[in-house]
Amino acid sequence: MAVVEPHGRIMGLDIADGGHPSHGFMTDKKISATSIFFETMPYKVNPETGYIDYDKLQENARLFHPKLIIAGTTCYSRNLDYARLKQIANENGAYLMGDMAHIGGLVAAGVVPSPFEDCDIVTTTTHKSLRGCRGGLIFYRKGIRSVDTKGKQTLYNLEFLINQAVFPGLQGGPHNNAIAGVAVALKQAMTPEFKAYQLQVLANCKALSSTLINLGYKIVTGGSDNHLILLNLRNKGTDGGRAEKVLQACAISCNKNTCLGAKSALLPNGLRFGSPALTSRGLKEEDFKKVAHFIHRGIELTLEVQGSLDPKATLMEFIQALAQGVKFQQRVAEIRAEVEAFTGQFPMPGLPEL
Ligand SMILES: *Cc1c(COP(=O)(O)O)cnc(C)c1O
Repeated sequence: MAVVEPHGRIMGLDIADGGHPSHGFMTDKKISATSIFFETMPYKVNPETGYIDYDKLQENARLFHPKLIIAGTTCYSRNLDYARLKQIANENGAYLMGDMAHIGGLVAAGVVPSPFEDCDIVTTTTHKSLRGCRGGLIFYRKGIRSVDTKGKQTLYNLEFLINQAVFPGLQGGPHNNAIAGVAVALKQAMTPEFKAYQLQVLANCKALSSTLINLGYKIVTGGSDNHLILLNLRNKGTDGGRAEKVLQACAISCNKNTCLGAKSALLPNGLRFGSPALTSRGLKEEDFKKVAHFIHRGIELTLEVQGSLDPKATLMEFIQALAQGVKFQQRVAEIRAEVEAFTGQFPMPGLPEL
C-alpha cells in the first residue's frame, strides 16, 4: 500500500518454486490478497538446477515493468543474489523489497548474506528463525534514492508512506504485549549465544542434507546454504503427501512441498525439513545424522505401504491402508517410540528437565 497503487505490478518468486503466498500467488484464479489488489507476474527457479533463474527474471521484468520486486522465500535452500535483484529493480525503476521472514534469525546473526545492503525495504516475521513471538517488522531506507545525470538527487520518502500504510491504512492499535515480546527476541538475537545457535543451525542442516544424500536421496539444488532443505522424492517413487503422513505418525514434523518436476500442485513430490527447532533442543551434527536415518525409515515404510496397494491408489486409500494395516501400525509405533526416546534425551526449552 505504501509503494504500489491498486493494480500496480509486482513480481515475486512463484509458490511452486519456494515463494510465499503473500508475494502474489495466483493460479487461473486470484488467490492471495496481493494477487487480488495488484497485478502479479512470478519469477521461477531453473527446473534443472533448482536455483533462481535471474536472467529470465530480468527478461520478464523488462516486459512487465514491475513497481516492486520481492526478494524472499519460504522454501528455498540457497542464498539470494540481492545485488543482482537490485540491479534488475533499478533497471525498471522498481523498489526491491527483501522479505527475510524465514531467514531473519540467520541474517541477525550474520551467518547468511544480508538483504539490508541492497533492498529499499526489508520485512521479516519475528517467529521463525528469529525465534521470537509472533509478529512482524518493516525496515525502510532513508536518504538519497537516486542521482540523475545532471546530479539532481531524489530522496526516499518511504518512512512517511510506510507509516501511513500501517496506520491508519491497514492496522488498528498496537499490541504492546507482542511488542515487548519482539523486544526480548531482538535482545536475545544480539548475544554471542544466538550467533553460536545460528551457526549450529547451518551446520546441522548440512549434516541432515549430506546424510540424506548418502542414503540416496535427491536434495533440490544439491544442498543448502541455510536452515532448510527440500527433498525431492520423485526418484524414490513416492510423493510428499504420503511420506508426510507416515513421518508425522512417527512423530517427525515436516511438510509436503512441490518441487521440480511435480506432475501436479495437488501431488507435491517433495518434503521440506528445517533445522532450527531441533537445534534449539540442543542437537548437534551427529544427532542430525540420526534424524536423517529416522526420516529414511519413515520413507521406507511409506514405500512398503504403497507397495501393498494398487499403484493408482489415492492418498485417501493410502491413509486408510496405513491406519488399518496391523503390521504398518506396529512399524509406526516402533519408529515413533524410538524417535521419542531419542528426542527425550534433549531438554525442551521452557519445560523442567526430567
Ligand atoms: C512465513 C512468511 C511470511 C508470513 O508469515 P506468517 O507467519 O504467516 O505471518 C511472509 N513472508 C515469508 C517469506 C514467509 O516465509
